[in-house]
Amino acid sequence: MSFLMSVLKQYDLVTEKLKLDDGIRERLRYPKRSLIVSIPIRMDTGKMKVFMGYRVQHDVTLGPSKGGIRYHPNVNLEEVSALAMLMSWKCALMELPYGGAKGGVCCNPREMSEKEIECLTRRFTTEIIWAIGPQQDIPAPDMNTNMQTMAWMMDTYSMQKGNTVLGVVTGKPLVLGGSLGREEGTGRGVYYMVEESVQVIGKELKGLKVAIQGFGNVASTAARLLFEKGCKVVAVSNSKGGIYNQNGINVKNLLHYAKENKTISGFPDVDTITNEDLLTVDCDVLIPAAIEGQITKFNAADIKAKIIVEGANGPTTPEADAILTSRDVFLVPDILANSGGVVISYFEWVQDLQFYFWTENEVLNRLKNIMTNVFNRVLLLSQERKVDMRTTAWMLGINRVSEAQKARGLFP
Ligand code: NAD
Repeated sequence: MSFLMSVLKQYDLVTEKLKLDDGIRERLRYPKRSLIVSIPIRMDTGKMKVFMGYRVQHDVTLGPSKGGIRYHPNVNLEEVSALAMLMSWKCALMELPYGGAKGGVCCNPREMSEKEIECLTRRFTTEIIWAIGPQQDIPAPDMNTNMQTMAWMMDTYSMQKGNTVLGVVTGKPLVLGGSLGREEGTGRGVYYMVEESVQVIGKELKGLKVAIQGFGNVASTAARLLFEKGCKVVAVSNSKGGIYNQNGINVKNLLHYAKENKTISGFPDVDTITNEDLLTVDCDVLIPAAIEGQITKFNAADIKAKIIVEGANGPTTPEADAILTSRDVFLVPDILANSGGVVISYFEWVQDLQFYFWTENEVLNRLKNIMTNVFNRVLLLSQERKVDMRTTAWMLGINRVSEAQKARGLFP
């Protein structure tokens, strides 16, 4: 089943439970707007190459749309549409004044020079320029994009508008109106969610065994914060495979090693494992923080973790969800677990619009407050209604968008 099919299946299940009005139900099943662009680039060899780019705005009822930009060989319209829908429910669940969007370019940045990536980013931004803006649609980083990508997007947009527009993207460098805490925001939020979940099952962080799929922005931040709190991070991975040590990996040393060597392979005193093995190693907490579709009906029954905190978007298929629920695995769904990124992005946008910037403590305290409050609201409702955490989170998100649509009425 494709990722989009999985997301739509989940949508159908939840909207059935919500008894959503048929019209609104159908309307929210489709994106408001999908944009496909071709991006011609002069490569370093002198030859021209054309890449396909996408921006999907799923819904804008609650405010401008918001969502990351991904550079990856698997990017296509279906994947971006699924991710855009997830962003709508995530922003609504977190009570942000945003709709959901997502974008991406089908490319392999690992095979491209920095100059080529800059050209690609600037031309992509130009092709979608009429659809984005601080009051319209606000991109942010996602897989294989970062602060530098956002700086190029912001510069390209500003040059064409004729004035500097800070609020057009978030996840920018501090010197261009970025927010303190943004780069680590998603991973820190994942860490807060582990902290909360552990209390639910009556354990404590110290000595807890954690396996993390990925070692990019989200995964490495969560790994470091958990390591600092005394957790045993027993496994991490990248696209090529994982490393494992049942007594725990020294994450500080690994971060240093990864920075020096641009890889985690070859790190001493660990066994190598596959990404598939990583999901079923002996651990208390599993954090899938790489890509979608990793926990499936084929491996869900073998997962040892009692807690799963979804750093990635869409790492669990609906069939796997059913298996995990029947096994009483406590799962914090992506739209809650990785919302730290969009929450701090919202803070960044607010600061940019006001030209007034907050301290790191203000940012992190507000993030923790919002995330733990929403976590407890979802937990309480899920216990009251006896439905799993994902269904509950989706219900809250979809319900908020639906209420807003009812209040606005149908145009014309
Ligand atoms: P990243 O590019 O920094 O890291 C991605 C990691 O996944 C890397 O370690 C990479 O090696 C690994 N990976 C790639 N392909 C893989 C594969 N086929 N199998 C296993 N591992 C693979 O990206 P990121 O920003 O850390 O994003 C990771 C996930 O978190 C994505 O699902 C993204 O949508 C989600 N997310 C990110 C943010 C954010 O603020 N960066 C916010 C919300 C959600």
